[in-house]
Amino acid sequence: MDLLLRIAGEASGPKLLILGGVHGDEFEPIMAIRRLAEVIDRSRLAGQLVLVPIANAPAFKLQQRCGPDGLDLARTFPGNVQGGETERIAAQLTALISECDFLIDLHTGGRAMTIWPLTGYMLCDDGDLLEVQRRMARAFGLPLTWGTSARLEGRSLSAARDMGKPAIYAEWGGGGGCDPAGVEAYVQGCLNVMIELKMYASPLYVDPMPMVIEDHRYGSGHLQANYPAPLAGFYQSAQPLGRVISEGTLLGSIWSSWNQPVTEVRAAGAGLLIVNRTLPAVSEGDALATILETDGDFTGVSEDMASGDVE
Ligand SMILES: [Zn+2]
Repeated sequence: MDLLLRIAGEASGPKLLILGGVHGDEFEPIMAIRRLAEVIDRSRLAGQLVLVPIANAPAFKLQQRCGPDGLDLARTFPGNVQGGETERIAAQLTALISECDFLIDLHTGGRAMTIWPLTGYMLCDDGDLLEVQRRMARAFGLPLTWGTSARLEGRSLSAARDMGKPAIYAEWGGGGGCDPAGVEAYVQGCLNVMIELKMYASPLYVDPMPMVIEDHRYGSGHLQANYPAPLAGFYQSAQPLGRVISEGTLLGSIWSSWNQPVTEVRAAGAGLLIVNRTLPAVSEGDALATILETDGDFTGVSEDMASGDVE
């Protein structure tokens, strides 16, 4: 929490917490929060921005998703002040969420995955809270907004849900670099949400028209549990991120030995490929892909909107 920065506006208003670096191998969020601090004009800000660019410093130091204790910070909320390192960080962040009115938690696919640009929220039972989250997610302006199960635990969003605070997260690309296009999308997205929440006066706002999908099934929104690798080996993805694919399409193949044919991984359903593994080294059980299975209309979605194309 060394890099915590508070920017107070000249007018009063709500407090917005923006988190980056909850996972230590996701870099666009960190740069975007730094850029946001540079571009904010306090005379136009009503309320307070609370910025945490590197929420999980031990994981960032290791250049890995998780810190030395191996716990995933995004599965550890609300945390424990008397617990281990990751649990203590989660408890500190939970305290920050409790003092703020809104939360944006910025992510990417990390070193191993690339993710179609999307803004997500939990489909909580509180209708007023849900409506604010929908407004925030749509205002952020990425191609997809995705409402998913409110029953997932351990996230910053579940901590916010339990306190009745509107919260969204965002995903953009991945692969371990820091793509300027992702940084720009995140800076603009945060500004858009601030404008939507009447915290910021700016002419930059462009009314976005994202694809909106809501999926109430338990486990929806859990990106680390889909298409687990059936064995360890060298994975080669066969599809670009953002492609609309049909059931049975080859997603990729795993090569493990000269003595065995490659193992093919095929789509179990049709939909939009929103998560793609790009790190070839896989262990058994590692997530390889997520297909957004929906009857939704993919009009307006094109592959060139995706970053980190693997082809
Ligand atoms: Zn993440």
